[in-house]
Amino acid sequence: MIADHTTLAQFLIEERRRHPDASGDLNSLILDVALTCKAIARRVAYGALAGVLGAAGATNVQGEQQQKLDVVANHLFVRVNEWAGHVAGMVSEEMADPYPIPDQYPRGKYLLVFDPLDGSSNIDVNLSVGSIFSILRAPHPGVNPAVADFLQPGSEQVCAGYAIYGPSTMIVLTVGTGVHGFTLEPQLGEFILTHPGIRIPESTREFAINASNSRFWEPAVKRYVEECLAGRAGPRGKDFNMRWVASLVAEAHRILTRGGVFLYPRDTKDPAMLGRLRLLYEASPVAFLVEQAGGGASAGYGRILDVVPDELHQRIAFVFGSREEVELIERYHLDDDAVQPDAGEYDGQLFGTRGLFRSSM
Ligand code: MN
Ligand code: MN
Repeated sequence: MIADHTTLAQFLIEERRRHPDASGDLNSLILDVALTCKAIARRVAYGALAGVLGAAGATNVQGEQQQKLDVVANHLFVRVNEWAGHVAGMVSEEMADPYPIPDQYPRGKYLLVFDPLDGSSNIDVNLSVGSIFSILRAPHPGVNPAVADFLQPGSEQVCAGYAIYGPSTMIVLTVGTGVHGFTLEPQLGEFILTHPGIRIPESTREFAINASNSRFWEPAVKRYVEECLAGRAGPRGKDFNMRWVASLVAEAHRILTRGGVFLYPRDTKDPAMLGRLRLLYEASPVAFLVEQAGGGASAGYGRILDVVPDELHQRIAFVFGSREEVELIERYHLDDDAVQPDAGEYDGQLFGTRGLFRSSM
């Protein structure tokens, strides 16, 4: 059976042949990340038998309660990827500062940023969780990176992807040549190419948003969702379904597979928060995947991949999915802005890309 299929290693080697001067470091790093995900998948699959369920009894840098599996997954990411000399440094959702590569190991030419376990509140109820990763070039290869070295816009990513630990374990990734999905063959321990060239349908009848926050939404988001809910009789002229898994990886995987649109907009619930999801290791990698699959990924006022991060754990509003829907939501944000030219709290420097977006309209 294996003779008829492409493994992740074979896929990466064939991609690399298009770049004859590539050293192979990137491929080795991606395979180490895949190994990390296999190790996490095993812990997830054994669940209560592995003793990994429940709270760790600590909070992370985001002030969120850590689950045991958050800690285990973070440890695996760090230990599997620190020794080989491919990375100069790492940033994780679970660590306040960049992880320094131990002295005895060489520093490489890439930076690895990751959310080791996404949707970890789902773990105790046996629903899908995942891991998200992004690979950037180290501006100063071979030495310990500064925090500023990580603050690159998503458009600079050389690879992004996620693992989803669902009924089957998959890795979905891009190296800038489309989006490809690999399913773990558990007996062989190999990721096999099962979903080549994933494309997001341009239009959809499905949206995903946490409706319990509706009273805090911006006018543009209220308008969009109201029009979806109005169904066939409303301005959209069609009925919509709503979905909400509360796991970014699971939402992204559904949308990459069959289309739809996801919104976690900026809201007024906590005005100090510029959104819920983290730019560097959640929104940016998912945005890279979504754009590579022909979809749209926006902060509401402009492209996620153009946003230059101010800090490692920065949050951002995030809308992604079928391109027609994302464009419509952006248009509604611009309409709001036309009514109130200085839309005050929504007019942050974060949306400095808005000018760009406008001039391209
Ligand atoms: Mn997450
Ligand atoms: Mn997480």
